[in-house]
Amino acid sequence: MQVRLLALALAFAPGLSLAAPDILVSHATPDGSGVVLERMAPHAMDALSARLHHDTGHCGGLVQHADEADFRQWMAKLKSPTLRQALTRKIDDAANVGAVMARLDPGRLLAMIEQLSTNTPNRHYRSEAGVAASNATAGQWRSIAEGRDDITVSTLPLPNAPQSTVIARIEGSERPGEIIVIGSHLDSTSSLAQNDPRGSAPGADDDASGVATATEILRAMVESGYRPKRSIHFIAHAGEEGGLLGSRQVAADYRRRGANVVGMMQLDMTANQGSADDVYLMTDYTDAGQNDFVADLARTYLPALRIGRDRCGYGCSDHASWFAEGYPASMPFESGMRDANRAIHTPRDTVETFGGHANHAIKFARLATAFAVELAND
Ligand SMILES: [Zn+2]
Repeated sequence: MQVRLLALALAFAPGLSLAAPDILVSHATPDGSGVVLERMAPHAMDALSARLHHDTGHCGGLVQHADEADFRQWMAKLKSPTLRQALTRKIDDAANVGAVMARLDPGRLLAMIEQLSTNTPNRHYRSEAGVAASNATAGQWRSIAEGRDDITVSTLPLPNAPQSTVIARIEGSERPGEIIVIGSHLDSTSSLAQNDPRGSAPGADDDASGVATATEILRAMVESGYRPKRSIHFIAHAGEEGGLLGSRQVAADYRRRGANVVGMMQLDMTANQGSADDVYLMTDYTDAGQNDFVADLARTYLPALRIGRDRCGYGCSDHASWFAEGYPASMPFESGMRDANRAIHTPRDTVETFGGHANHAIKFARLATAFAVELAND
């Protein structure tokens, strides 16, 4: 599949000498069999994003490139990501998993989704409100971490847009150089988002739900006094809808510095239950062994959860950036792709659309807690 993808992508690449070279974007062909590379004005990308969402049901689906060489490197990495380490994944820390899980609170999780989607109802990565969303999240994570000298919160601005990725690092007590990443994305979009600073892209499900789920896990870890042996990094990526901008930047930076990420999980849309099963593990651009581990975690700690599998497609979310850098990534999703929330990327992506509760999102908080705590237990 990926070999064919690369061949098709390179076949398309020569037709690039178009006028108005604003940004360079790759995305899947409508039938999903290949990848095309196009130059377009930034506002055209918002429209493309809306169209891709309409066609595929998921949120991302495009990748922005600095130049053609960057596109070729990206496709080569997707085809054969850097060799991963073999990791033994055991399930043997029920005490800590239970202690953190006991602190998870769906009411707080919902409040955080409401806060992000109503206080910053347009978190477009090129907008001031997008910057405000980064600042608000960084501020919240700092206040949660207050009094813990093993937790630091930092921000990393995108190379060519104002929004920042926000990173909270819990330093491991025994193996700080080995890292578990819990990802989500801060930005939101709709085809109107660029032109309407007052709102129009509340992104409650996509992806205030993921940021809020991660925030609730961080808060529960701190409240329970949990201290991991390996490091845990919570990363709210900037510019996911702009073509995986923040995650490509951060994952490449981790790789460049030789960071040993032992597992990455992306939380992108956790609040809307659209299918019969509870959690769908995406099988493409993810690590099959780690996905099986996540399913084992569910069987062990959340036996009532029904686990499905599906495919997400090209550039579907930030896990693809970590996968491309050779890190084991997983993407548990709120529904099957065919049943994905049709309100995303529109002004209707509000908490009301998914019923005004966090009963579904809390399942992802529990599952990601088990994932982070068990992997962090060395
Ligand atoms: Zn999303």
